[in-house]
Amino acid sequence: MAAQAFTIHPVAALDDNYIWTVSRNGQAVCIDPGEAGPVLDYLHRHGLSLAEIWITHHHHDHTGGIAGLKQVFPQCTVYGNRDIAAADRYAGEGVQWLFGGCRVEVWHTPGHTAGHLSYLLHDAEGLHVFCGDTLFSAGCGRVFCGTAGQLYVSLQRYAGLPGHTLFYPAHEYTAANLRFAACVEPDNPAVRTARAAAEHMPTLPVSLAHELRINPFLRTGGRQVAQKAAEYSGGKLADGAAVFAALREWKNRF
Ligand SMILES: [Zn+2]
Repeated sequence: MAAQAFTIHPVAALDDNYIWTVSRNGQAVCIDPGEAGPVLDYLHRHGLSLAEIWITHHHHDHTGGIAGLKQVFPQCTVYGNRDIAAADRYAGEGVQWLFGGCRVEVWHTPGHTAGHLSYLLHDAEGLHVFCGDTLFSAGCGRVFCGTAGQLYVSLQRYAGLPGHTLFYPAHEYTAANLRFAACVEPDNPAVRTARAAAEHMPTLPVSLAHELRINPFLRTGGRQVAQKAAEYSGGKLADGAAVFAALREWKNRF
């Protein structure tokens, strides 16, 4: 008998966080619980037991619910990097385990923070990437305690995955990001189409193929992106990393 598919569902929390839940056969994982209440409600309504918590980075809107969830599910295992005090198990580059019979793989994807992780879940349908605050649809995270250079390398690494890979960011900033994308690439018809769609419906998860068409932070090799970034920074930019850093600066002030 074929394995039952995972159910992957976003639980809305705080102002604009998505706490993604992954479940199969009554066992659930939640990723970056910024608060416990909405996750507990969801688990209760669906008769699920929380087996694991995966933490991408230390910001409070991604970790604030850990203690409350552990109170109700003391057996659940918290995975995180060394900067996550509440982690039961170390997760870092190359660490792997099985959840629901499928392989979970950890990538170290610094930039937003120095210790930021991504969790890659491989199932029969393909690859699901829980990317925290590294990639947003049509955008990327701000640089806090990492560097723009690290964030560029992390996004380039995502860009090498198969096009049908699905990304599950922790925030829905798509409409605002697309306003910026339209300013960077006014001639990109895919950005125009995505913008019209984003005004009306939730847009997550997103496929890598879609992001490669609309996300200026993944399109630093494009002529118009490079030209606009150079205009913004007032000089020629040497390479993709420099274009990326200029875009990130521009977006911070946008
Ligand atoms: Zn963050």
